[in-house]
Amino acid sequence: MSRADMTTSMTPATTACPCCRMVDVLLPSPAYTRCTCCGHRWRMSSGVVGARYYEALVARNDLQTPWFKRKIADRVAALSALLTPQVERVLEVGCAEGALGEAIKARFPLAYDGLELSQDRELARARLDQVFQTYANQVESQPYDLIVSFHVLEHIPDPAEELRAWSRLLATGGKLLIEVPHQAGHPLLDNDRNPEHLHQFTPASLTVLLAHCGLTCHELSLGHYESPVYPDSIRVIAQPRRQPDELRAQLVQRFEKLLGGPFIAYAIGGDFLNYVAPLADALDIRALVDSAASKWGQQVGSHIVSGYDEAVHGALPILVCSIKFGAGIRQQLLAAGIAVDRIIGLETVYEGA
Ligand SMILES: [Zn+2]
Repeated sequence: MSRADMTTSMTPATTACPCCRMVDVLLPSPAYTRCTCCGHRWRMSSGVVGARYYEALVARNDLQTPWFKRKIADRVAALSALLTPQVERVLEVGCAEGALGEAIKARFPLAYDGLELSQDRELARARLDQVFQTYANQVESQPYDLIVSFHVLEHIPDPAEELRAWSRLLATGGKLLIEVPHQAGHPLLDNDRNPEHLHQFTPASLTVLLAHCGLTCHELSLGHYESPVYPDSIRVIAQPRRQPDELRAQLVQRFEKLLGGPFIAYAIGGDFLNYVAPLADALDIRALVDSAASKWGQQVGSHIVSGYDEAVHGALPILVCSIKFGAGIRQQLLAAGIAVDRIIGLETVYEGA
């Protein structure tokens, strides 16, 4: 059965909310079911969108209207903020006629592919590098550094399945930018009567759906403009959730890059215990040093805390392990004649990660 067939014939296998999965808090209405937990509203079918409905559509956008130009300008700005030099491949799910991709390709040297079911795909093919005329779960391609999708997810019967299909196409470290109407999509409308729309998202329902699909929401903003009747959209930037061992390995790499090998940990307090000690078995810590004599002789892990001794410690980098008192400690170390390039603050390991 095709996805389009499912739109009209799929019946609810469960009454659980498709986003937060709550099963006993549903308020049915003639048009939509509403989850009282996350506020999501949905319907299994509008009764209008039938088999191969989207494949038959053509000229979905009028490129000359001022609201279309406003929408594209806003989206160009949003994408531009994400297009670091590392982003070489972009996929737009629901690229329509390819106007956004064309504007991006005019500004950035990257590959921009699209996915479009409607006949507008033919216009997109003249503007983009490659256009798929299929569902995302059937796309075979090299992975993408950025996948964007504007006003698509609310059309999809099973948005969780769709998000997993998009995740499968992401490169390691890749990001998703997703925009959907915020509930009705207009602050003065209580309901979205667009027959193509099956889902009305809230910030809560979208973020919890992302979480259920193994994605972490890094940014969420409201009020994005799609058109005069959809001026209120939710936009999120998300990434596949990173596993604890992956996070730990990246953090250890940052220590190694900044310290270059064995080092002395200076200032053995709460920040050391919270932000250095948990990684101690992967770091080459040669000594624990503190200026407070009251700490000398204490055992922390496999080391005994001592005072600084130039004869013993003088050749190694010093990691100042206090975020709060780091600036003052740095001044003390400089005043004691320690070279500035031997002193590294713990904050430099954690900032900008
Ligand atoms: Zn819910």
